[in-house]
Amino acid sequence: MAARPAPYLDELNPAQRQAVETMDGPVLMLAGAGTGKTKALTARIVHLLNTGRARPNEILAVTFTNKAAREMKNRVGRMLGETVEGMPWLGTFHSICVKLLRRHAELICADDDDEDGVVEGAPSLHLKSNFTILDTDDQLRLLKQLIQAAGIDDKRWPARQLASVIDAWKNRALTPDKVPSADANAYNNKGVELYDQYQRRLLELNAVDFGDLLLHMVTIFQQHPDILRKYQNWFRYIMVDEYQDTNVAQYLWLRLLAQGHRNICCVGDDDQSIYGWRGAEVGNILRFEKDFEGAHVVRLEQNYRSTPHILAAASGVIRGNSNRLGKELWTEAEHGEKVRLIGHWDGEEEARWIGEEIESMQRGTRGARAMGLDEMAILVRASHQMRAFEDRFLTIGLPYRVIGGPRFYERMEIRDAMAYFRIVTSPDDDLAFERIVNTPKRGLGDKARQTIQMIARQNGVSLLDGATLAVEQGAIKGKGAKALGELVVNIARWGRMTRATVAADGDAVVEDLLTPQPTKTEVSHVELAQIILDESGYTGMWQNDKTPEAPGRLENLKELVKALESFENLQGFLEHVALVMDNDSDDGGAKVSIMTLHAAKGLEFPAVFLPGWEDGLFPSQRSMDESGVKGLEEERRLAYVGITRAEEVCTISFAGNRRVFGQWQSQLPSRFVDELPEDHVEVLTPPGLYGGGYGAAAPSASMSAGVEARAAAADGYNSPGWKRLQARASERPVSQPRESKASVIDMQAVAAFMIGERVFHQKFGYGAVIDVEGDKVEIHFEKAGIKKVVSRFIKPAAE
Ligand code: ATP
Ligand code: MG
Repeated sequence: MAARPAPYLDELNPAQRQAVETMDGPVLMLAGAGTGKTKALTARIVHLLNTGRARPNEILAVTFTNKAAREMKNRVGRMLGETVEGMPWLGTFHSICVKLLRRHAELICADDDDEDGVVEGAPSLHLKSNFTILDTDDQLRLLKQLIQAAGIDDKRWPARQLASVIDAWKNRALTPDKVPSADANAYNNKGVELYDQYQRRLLELNAVDFGDLLLHMVTIFQQHPDILRKYQNWFRYIMVDEYQDTNVAQYLWLRLLAQGHRNICCVGDDDQSIYGWRGAEVGNILRFEKDFEGAHVVRLEQNYRSTPHILAAASGVIRGNSNRLGKELWTEAEHGEKVRLIGHWDGEEEARWIGEEIESMQRGTRGARAMGLDEMAILVRASHQMRAFEDRFLTIGLPYRVIGGPRFYERMEIRDAMAYFRIVTSPDDDLAFERIVNTPKRGLGDKARQTIQMIARQNGVSLLDGATLAVEQGAIKGKGAKALGELVVNIARWGRMTRATVAADGDAVVEDLLTPQPTKTEVSHVELAQIILDESGYTGMWQNDKTPEAPGRLENLKELVKALESFENLQGFLEHVALVMDNDSDDGGAKVSIMTLHAAKGLEFPAVFLPGWEDGLFPSQRSMDESGVKGLEEERRLAYVGITRAEEVCTISFAGNRRVFGQWQSQLPSRFVDELPEDHVEVLTPPGLYGGGYGAAAPSASMSAGVEARAAAADGYNSPGWKRLQARASERPVSQPRESKASVIDMQAVAAFMIGERVFHQKFGYGAVIDVEGDKVEIHFEKAGIKKVVSRFIKPAAE
């Protein structure tokens, strides 16, 4: 087929073009933020199709978020116009693996069968294609049951801890039998055993957790060379964005698939590796050239996103890391504004100021061009920071959207409704059954539920089947019996209705997944969802509820049913919810985006606000407490990711006081503030607080002595970096030599707490300050007596 004209190639620079036109063999694109890696990757997909080198379904492209996948899909669609039918396999590792795993689920068996997965003899336990994907909540509930059954005190050994141990193993593609002996002491020496039990229990429930999606696919590829070969032949061109954040399991999966044709193109940036805490291994980038010998390495250095000041600020910060490949970026963009830095009294004040700033940027009254709300984003380090912005923006009526934040799908009523959908599509899902059996109240108390559990266990069946047996045997007494009878009959009936809405794709080939067949439908899945919620009595439960939250919950349920419209069937929807990271059900109007720095990866906005640059928040306390620099370096990369999202205006801020989980805490500006290169930063003076700004940093005499001293110190105005910036802002020479952070803390402690002041300590409760010595404060606690504590752990007592 003759290639059509390729305007998309004209938009690329020579290095990008080389990466696009090198279609065969391994290619590694290693380059800094905003250099057009994603753009080149998208163009490469288009080029493969346009030159007739590949058919759409022969291309596998992996992105980091669902949002990124959607964007890439749209861009490919636009570039190609109407000329090519079908779309490439484009999605996250998880969304692609879930599709594949549904096709081969039965190969995942308990370990009583042989290596080929051929089941011998009597029914063996294996996964079925309608498996449920558990969320964290379900996962923890399940682990807790296992922990308690093993007689372990889950207060001392929390389920969460076991969950993270297991996740870490899964991220390393380790099934229970492969966990190395060095890990044998994990979770009080019981980790491996419980992991094994957990995997078995998941099979019984016909469920998988997130980590399993990859782990199971790697297992299948390793144990079934014929299946692997089929997919190797199928996916002839593989592309991966944000490669620096792949974990070992993902890496193995890719390597298995790319063996043979070796047409794999990975793009990444070691400076943007921010998922180490979730098992990502930046070493995968370094290993690429080893694993794929003769790999073509493309380096891009021109940044097309940000102004020079923004780029210089980002480069200045990331230079503080020692473990990096080291790349320099340049740009042809106009100078633009310096990165703006501003300190606030507290988090509320910071949110208020940012709200006003956004409004004035929108009106164009700030001097720069007028910007739309869609062009602005607030990127936070921790999701609890979002609340202050949400509250403020609701108050002033500023439209915003939270991306990947407190998720719609995590609300109680949504989770209940989803449990109904789950039990209907996947009758073995005991966790879903447990959730709904007595919601709404059906008179089925603990005793009735225990009876169901016992019958299910005795007969080796699911709880739903156990309940059916219980009804048949008349094992449940009282008014619950009739209600339970109705429930199991209803679930079976809804199940039949669901299956009538789902395509019978038992033997579907992979193409069928790409172009779903039209289905014969009696009632649409959207109608069915409404029927389930109504007939189960769940909608009625909230209609009769008199609490102030009830109307909101009913609204949410409506939203949920509405959300179903854009899906083929219930199962597809459940999958989506389990996988989706971003909550973007909105009316499409222009809105400011609020999200975490992690969720902002790969995105760009003309104006970016980076609030909460305070030690303990950003960098996080955990990274600061860790020995070694690993955690801190990851935080610094996160700072780099944050700054490099900005195209024209980047505003960094910090607050002197912050309420974290209901407790006031005084804060010091982040060490990253000190690392910003001065020549590229402008210090802003917020109006009002000290009647004329921070220039002289002299809190007014009208303030009471205690508050005054605490304000100056807690605001961190003693930080050397801050002093330097202040001096510059007020054009005074810097008189103070650079000091260590430790002495800053000393100064804070001395000034922060006054003798006689009433304070609060998390562990010892309330007390009065007796003496202050460096960063230690001696306190007479009301209950605990006299103790010396580190000042960081005490707060002024609430008035
Ligand atoms: P990140 O590391 O943050 O993911 P990236 O390297 O993937 O960044 P892109 O998002 O692809 O960078 O590109 C950044 C911006 O630069 C986009 O707005 C893109 O359209 C633009 N861009 C990329 N390449 C070019 C080019 N050759 N000419 C003009 N603009 C370009
Ligand atoms: Mg990118």
